[in-house]
Amino acid sequence: MTVNHTHDPAARSWVESANLQGCDFPIQNLPFGRFRTSGSREDFRIGVAIGDQVLDLKAAGLVDTDDMNALMAASVQDRLALRIALSEGLRQGSHNQAAWAKCLQPQAVVEMAVPCRIQDYTDFYTGIHHATTVGKLFRPDQPLMPNYKWVPIGYHGRASSIGVSGQRFKRPQGQTKAPDAQAPSFGPSKKLDYELELGFLIGQGNALGEPIAIADAEQHLFGVTLLNDWSARDLQAWEYQPLGPFLSKNFATTLSPWIVTMEALAPFRAKFERPAGDPQPLPYLDAPANRESGALNITLEVWLQTSKMREAAEPAVRLTHGNTQQAAYWTAAQLVTHHTINGCNLQTGDLLGSGTLSGPEPDEAGSLLELTLGGKHPISLPNGERRTFLEDGDTLTLRGYCERQGVVRIGLGEVSGTILGS
Ligand code: MN
Repeated sequence: MTVNHTHDPAARSWVESANLQGCDFPIQNLPFGRFRTSGSREDFRIGVAIGDQVLDLKAAGLVDTDDMNALMAASVQDRLALRIALSEGLRQGSHNQAAWAKCLQPQAVVEMAVPCRIQDYTDFYTGIHHATTVGKLFRPDQPLMPNYKWVPIGYHGRASSIGVSGQRFKRPQGQTKAPDAQAPSFGPSKKLDYELELGFLIGQGNALGEPIAIADAEQHLFGVTLLNDWSARDLQAWEYQPLGPFLSKNFATTLSPWIVTMEALAPFRAKFERPAGDPQPLPYLDAPANRESGALNITLEVWLQTSKMREAAEPAVRLTHGNTQQAAYWTAAQLVTHHTINGCNLQTGDLLGSGTLSGPEPDEAGSLLELTLGGKHPISLPNGERRTFLEDGDTLTLRGYCERQGVVRIGLGEVSGTILGS
C-alpha cells in the first residue's frame, strides 16, 4: 500500500465538485459504498464517491457484480488495478468522461446501505486513554487491567444490529443496579452513550487453523469506516463482569456508508511507537513495517444536535476533536494477527472495531462517559441545555478526515444516528 500517482496532489477530476477545497471525496480518495435511488426498490449497487456524486461501477463497466464482498475479496493487485482505472477515468481529460458522466448520480438523491455483508463483528479496546479513564470510574483501585499492554483486548459483538448512517433506534431497556440498591430494577436505560471508533473491514480472509502473520496482516485489510458503538452504561456496569458487555452494546452499532480503502490511506500512515517504559509487543505482534507505518493519522470529531436545536434550526455543536495517532495503543494489523493467532478464521466483510479513540486531553474524549466523568459533570450546550448522557431526539454524528502537508485532504464522511423514545 504505497503512495503512487493515484495520490498525486496535482490530480483534478472532471467532476468539478471533487476539486473543491475541503471536499471529503476528491479523486485521491475513491471510497466504495452501496447505493440506490432514494425511495426506490432497486437492488443496491456498488458505487464510488467522487465529489458530491456517486459513480455506478457496474454501469461504467468496471465490475460485473453488485456484491461488495466479491470486490473486497479480490487480490491486492486487482484492487490496485481498479483504483488506477478509477483514478485515470475520473481525471480531467480522460477519454472515459463522456461515457462515465452518464453513470453518475448526485449523492443527494441516493440512499446508502451498510457497505458490505458483515457476518461477524469484533470490537476491540485499543484506546488506552479511554480504557484508563473508564477503568478509573468502574474500578478506581485498578484502572488498567494487567493484560492491557500485552493483549489487544476485544469481545465478539453482534452483526445483526449493525446499521448505516441515518439509523434511528429505540432507547434500550434492561436491568440496572445502583451501587447502593438492594436489588436490580428494570426499565429504559438512563445512561445511553456513544463511542467514537473506526471500523476496519476485512478483504481476503484466512482458512480456519491458519493464522495471519503480522507481516501479511495489512494485505487482509480492505478499508476503514467510522463506527459508533452505542452503549447503555447503566446496563453495562451491572452486566459486564465476568464475560464483558452484552445487552448494553448489541442493540445498535452504526457505520458510515463509504469504505475508505487502505490504498487511499497510504499517505496518512504513521509510526507505531510505545511510550518509554511500556512493554514492546510480543514477537508475533511485531514487524518492521508495523513499527514504521502501522498507525493511522486520522482526525476525528463528534457532533451533537438535540431535538430542541433541530426545531430552532440551530446547527450541531462539536463535542470532541482528536486524532487516532495519540489514541490507539494497537495497530489494525496487530488486531488482525491477534484475532487469528489461535486459528480463528476471519471472513471477507468481517468488521473489527477499534475501540473508543479518546485522546489524552479532556476535550478529546470519545464518549459522554468520559466527557462528563460518569455523569458527574454535565456539559452545557450553547442553547442552555445540559447533557450527561443522550436524551430522546438527540442526533449524534461522527466525522473523520486526514490532512498532511503536501497531500490532498481526504474524508471518511460521517455517521449519524438518532435516539427514539423507549
Ligand atoms: Mn466499543
